[in-house]
Amino acid sequence: MDSDAKLAPRAAGRTVGGKMRKFGMAGLIGALFLAACDGSAQRSEDWAFHGHDPQEQRYSPLDEVNRDTVKGLGLAWYHEFSADRGQEATPLVKDGVLYTSTSWSEVFAFDAATGRLLWSYDPKTDRASLVNACCDAINRGVALWGDRVFVATLDGRLISLDAKTGRVAWSVDTIDRRHPGMHYTITGAPRVANGKIVIGNAGSEFGVRGYVTAYDAASGRQAWRFFLTPNPTGGPDGAASDEIMRTRGAQTWSDGEWKVSGGGGTAWDSMTFDPSTNLLFVGTGNGSPFDYSRRSGGQGDNLFLSSILALDPETGAYRWHYQTTPQDAWDYTAAQQMIAARLSLNGTQRDVLMQAPKNGFFYVLDRRTGQLLSAKPFAPVTWAREIDLKTGRPVFAPGVHYENGPAILRPGSLGAHSWQAMSYSPRTGLVYIPVQLTTGVFARDPAYKRRPLGQNHSIAMRAFPEDKDKVAAVRATMTGQLLAWDPVAQKPRWSVPHPWFNNGGTLVTAGDLVFQGVSEGKLLAYDATNGKALWTYEAASGIIAPPITYRVRGEQYVAVMVGSGGAGSLVGHIVPDRPRLPGRLMVFKLGGRAQAPPFPAVKPPPIDVSGVASEGDPEAGSAEYVRTCSVCHGANASVAYTADLRRSGALRDPQAWRAVVLEGALEANGMVGFAKILTRADAENIRAYVLSQARKAQGDGQ
Ligand code: CA
Repeated sequence: MDSDAKLAPRAAGRTVGGKMRKFGMAGLIGALFLAACDGSAQRSEDWAFHGHDPQEQRYSPLDEVNRDTVKGLGLAWYHEFSADRGQEATPLVKDGVLYTSTSWSEVFAFDAATGRLLWSYDPKTDRASLVNACCDAINRGVALWGDRVFVATLDGRLISLDAKTGRVAWSVDTIDRRHPGMHYTITGAPRVANGKIVIGNAGSEFGVRGYVTAYDAASGRQAWRFFLTPNPTGGPDGAASDEIMRTRGAQTWSDGEWKVSGGGGTAWDSMTFDPSTNLLFVGTGNGSPFDYSRRSGGQGDNLFLSSILALDPETGAYRWHYQTTPQDAWDYTAAQQMIAARLSLNGTQRDVLMQAPKNGFFYVLDRRTGQLLSAKPFAPVTWAREIDLKTGRPVFAPGVHYENGPAILRPGSLGAHSWQAMSYSPRTGLVYIPVQLTTGVFARDPAYKRRPLGQNHSIAMRAFPEDKDKVAAVRATMTGQLLAWDPVAQKPRWSVPHPWFNNGGTLVTAGDLVFQGVSEGKLLAYDATNGKALWTYEAASGIIAPPITYRVRGEQYVAVMVGSGGAGSLVGHIVPDRPRLPGRLMVFKLGGRAQAPPFPAVKPPPIDVSGVASEGDPEAGSAEYVRTCSVCHGANASVAYTADLRRSGALRDPQAWRAVVLEGALEANGMVGFAKILTRADAENIRAYVLSQARKAQGDGQ
């Protein structure tokens, strides 16, 4: 079949708005098939798990596309979605069908060879949940098990779909409703472990108590829940974490705001199931609030923040933990990908777990025991001098908890490596890391007071407002890198610089190719042995998602989700100033000849704000903007993944502005009303600030 001829992407490609449509024959349904199916089985041509395999190596044995043939790689088919926010999903492929998710947690199934849309499912995600999300309405993908597809939604549901039709089999609310003041979201992909679907959540920036939950894949019944911080009341939760919290966890916390905020520690992205040890590894998030003195009186390590936890997948029982960042005060999560592999260390084969978390150190652990085997910085690190192998603890730099005033530290809170996937090739022995070279300014916020809506991280985001040069110097350090890291020698082997820090995850193949998309809107293939760029595709829109590869009907394909957004786009001054573009799924094969039409030039002109006045205080508005609005609208009201406020018509009229900002006139778009935390004066101050930014943009010709 000539898949190119089947394209008709625009006709076939429009998202089915509002409701699920089904195509094709009904499949085998029900528990009988599920019980008989080994959910961990995978053929070499598939990509059936989030990280390709349960061990999350993101290494494919396919080699038809290799260093010699890659120059012939071309577009086979593509699909354009209506969703125009960040696209972070890893598509999955099984039995010739490609499944993916988009922002707002929508799910799509395609014929993996032709791109024909088989079905789509819209969970009708509550748009108001965006206000509780730190980093866009993104979704990192679905899970497959038996004849089911599983998606977790931004508003906290876990949904099981029939893989053949997209019909809902079951749906559960994963949110702990005992704490109505805690606002959870889910952005991560569910994982499968021994017939259980495991999911965590996000929200540490806002004040939540993290946990992970396992559900029976067939029925949706909850199997176990493990809380990642102690119960603030001191009592048990009736959860798998009760015993370890009583004997170990609770002692590592002191008096502080965690008793209200929940302490954080959310498992917002990474989990790895290792069938060989029958352990489920969970990576946990940062503290809430950030300021350690405020959170826990500056006392204790605060388990299980920023930790790798090994759990029994059947019961959720604790097996071991390793805390990468005790006393976290910097958003140094350990929620980054964990790769299980076998390495030869000092002449001995070791079953290891590897992680390159936000804090900038590359860790190699014995995954049976959690013993630290080695840790070295893979990016510039100033917060710790080293990791002491005897104690397993970081040797903190002085003043690192900003107890003596603002601290400029590397990495910044965006981390040296975040959710963007890394990959490991058993052929080269190298780990391919999408490194972020970031710097952060950390300072206590004396005016901080916890609020019921919005972020509650408690630190001053702009510690040097008077010193533009200092801030500019910090920003100038923020770039990216594709790094090939030798996990045995704990040394770099090669690296490729990228101009922007926010790039896509990596894929490595038996064809000795590393694929990576970049913020400038390209997908590249590099020689895995030396970093030489061998192939480039101009996608014309930023890529942050990781590519995958699969084979269907004898041909190898490479696929990637295209679309900027997420946390990296919040720092608008250092990413390309692009309008929001519709997301695309781009799929390549050797000899592919399809063409994707260019994106329309949709950047609207600035509105005319001459003669528009505000009685608000732009300085006060700037501070409130940073605290409440910048998480979605970007630094300096500049870009990010929501409306460019400098071009908002509501800017011209204080009443229209209040209707949006306070009363939620645009709630259907995800802009909820902030009347609970902002006064009319606050809203007007913010308007005065955004007006000043709009005038500045016009002056700059933007
Ligand atoms: Ca965080």
